[in-house]
Amino acid sequence: MSDLAQSVDTSRDELTGLRRNGAPKHCGWCGRRLPQGENRGRRRRYCGQSCRQRAYERRAAVQRSGLPEDAVVLSDAEIATLQDRLFQLRCAAEDVATAADDGAELPELRRMATELARVAQDLEQLR
Ligand SMILES: [Zn+2]
Repeated sequence: MSDLAQSVDTSRDELTGLRRNGAPKHCGWCGRRLPQGENRGRRRRYCGQSCRQRAYERRAAVQRSGLPEDAVVLSDAEIATLQDRLFQLRCAAEDVATAADDGAELPELRRMATELARVAQDLEQLR
């Protein structure tokens, strides 16, 4: 049960990255953005066989645990990594605010905002 350190009850839509049009935008396991416009007939939920398999195994473990089927379960290590990356994101955001307070020029602020966006985009990859 130690692997089931954290469970967050989210909607299935959040879990799989489904959007209003029903097309998944992110891998249901690792969170990588899925390529768009391919496999129109059969919607992809995972970026590859390995993610599909790991999602299946985690789902089976969640079912055995008695947690809700759509619970999102992250290990201690996954939570720690996520917290590290969120900390990076916060630092990048604070850097922009500090630079603005210090009267940084627009190109510098733009460069820092671009870096902030890059850190945030990395965070879309959950695992
Ligand atoms: Zn994936």
